Amino acid sequence: MVETIQSVDRKLCCSCNKDVTQGKRMKDREGKYWCLECGIADQLKKGGASGASMCPECDRPTAMLDLVKHGTRYICNECHHAISAIESRKMTGSAALKDPAKRIRLALAVLMLAASAALITSFYMGII
Ligand SMILES: [Zn+2]
Ligand SMILES: [Zn+2]
Repeated sequence: MVETIQSVDRKLCCSCNKDVTQGKRMKDREGKYWCLECGIADQLKKGGASGASMCPECDRPTAMLDLVKHGTRYICNECHHAISAIESRKMTGSAALKDPAKRIRLALAVLMLAASAALITSFYMGII
């Protein structure tokens, strides 16, 4: 009797028997619980696209929600960042545009100049 209650209260991964009562878990159509690792591995094995998928770049199992659209493909965030960095490096030709920090500093300098010019103008306008 006690055992039955315990087995109802505790949620165990049906594949590796890990206790997933508190942790992240998945539940399949038959009502069985899976830990995240086993659940994703199982879905990949079945080839199902619901919930889990694979990054075509690095072949790592990646949750469907974590995939980022890159062109016509869906890849994981890390690959997306890596490829975007390579692509932006290819696209920018001039040395000034290569360094985004430099561009920000330049924009800030222009902004500061414009702001101080406006301040000086309004200062004199107010006095006279
Ligand atoms: Zn498991
Ligand atoms: Zn990837």
